[in-house]
Amino acid sequence: MRAVRMTAPGVLEHTEVPTPEAGPGEVLLRVGAVGACHSDLHILDAPAGVFPIPMTLGHEVAGTVDTVGAGVDGWSPGDRAAVYGIIGCGRCRACLRGDENRCRVTPVGGVGLSRDGGLAEYVVVPASRLLPVGDMDLTQAAPLTDAGLTPYHAVELARPRLRPGTTCVVIGIGGLGHMGVQILLATTAVRIVAVDTSPAALDLASRLGAHHVVQAGPDAVEKIRELVGPPPDGADVVLDFVGAQATLDTGRQVVATGGQLLLVGLAGGTLPVRPVADEPPPVPMETGVVVPFWGTRAELHEVIALARDGRLHADVQTFPLAEAPQAYEALRRGDVHGRAVIVP
Ligand code: NAD
Ligand code: ZN
Ligand code: ZN
Repeated sequence: MRAVRMTAPGVLEHTEVPTPEAGPGEVLLRVGAVGACHSDLHILDAPAGVFPIPMTLGHEVAGTVDTVGAGVDGWSPGDRAAVYGIIGCGRCRACLRGDENRCRVTPVGGVGLSRDGGLAEYVVVPASRLLPVGDMDLTQAAPLTDAGLTPYHAVELARPRLRPGTTCVVIGIGGLGHMGVQILLATTAVRIVAVDTSPAALDLASRLGAHHVVQAGPDAVEKIRELVGPPPDGADVVLDFVGAQATLDTGRQVVATGGQLLLVGLAGGTLPVRPVADEPPPVPMETGVVVPFWGTRAELHEVIALARDGRLHADVQTFPLAEAPQAYEALRRGDVHGRAVIVP
């Protein structure tokens, strides 16, 4: 079969590999669509030894069951499914509670992270990772599994603060952020301030229903403060889907005393959390900082429900499998709006 693999750090190749077979408890899925996540660029940029090499990338997958391995109940050839990408140990305290995104044994284990992913004609996954998607378009189903699930989980973590009358600043309206805006609108009554460097991303945020948009830049903090109030007031919640030094610095300067910063993006910035009496403090007093990771299977079930009810829709640009490397180049340049989805 054809697959797009990381064959060395930074190297992505469209190549031929043997079609895998489903082992006991596993399913061979014919890939229908796979989202190109910005994390794949971080995986490619990671030094040798962090991720398996060679490895087929792709952790945002939906497809059709082709064959089932021994002992698999409840799934048959032809069934359509989204893949919950995390594979926790299944035995630790966190996994037993359903928090596989907090597994104490394999903290970043999963499809396209620690084993071959979905950028291929077929992928083998444990049957327990499949969630039914009915007749949903698979190019819509695939982005739900990460671009939808990760913001949904972050919103869940922030939910106690997301009361009517509060404000949420959403930084980075790309694959995750454009889903995050819709999830906030569908599940909360907060006022949304969307922030991005790209005018096209801000247009998308406005079309989706963000209440205010602010172009990132030297005066962004000032412009956001005009909307959310100056310190010690500010945004109740900041969802940072970038994680660069500039966005972490923006977030901590616009979050309210007692607010919450959710640092989802992995762009390598550092947040100076120091309990000091500086004025202004680097992070306001009583402010919570969370570094969310992906989400739970139960949350993915809810994300799929939101989409099936028409409340969540990925803005998708599709590419054939052979053009996956070009899709990632476009993502790196910032030329993808919404989600790039590869259709093998
Ligand atoms: P994306 O490239 O689709 O979107 C990023 C958006 O941020 C773009 O719209 C871009 O214009 C904007 N942006 C870039 N720099 C900016 C800046 N300085 N200020 C404001 N906006 C800026 O990426 P994505 O696939 O949505 O992923 C976003 C981040 O989240 C990545 O770092 C990715 O690795 C990470 N991620 C984390 C998790 C997790 O579980 N923590 C899961 C998935 C993705
Ligand atoms: Zn991802
Ligand atoms: Zn575990």
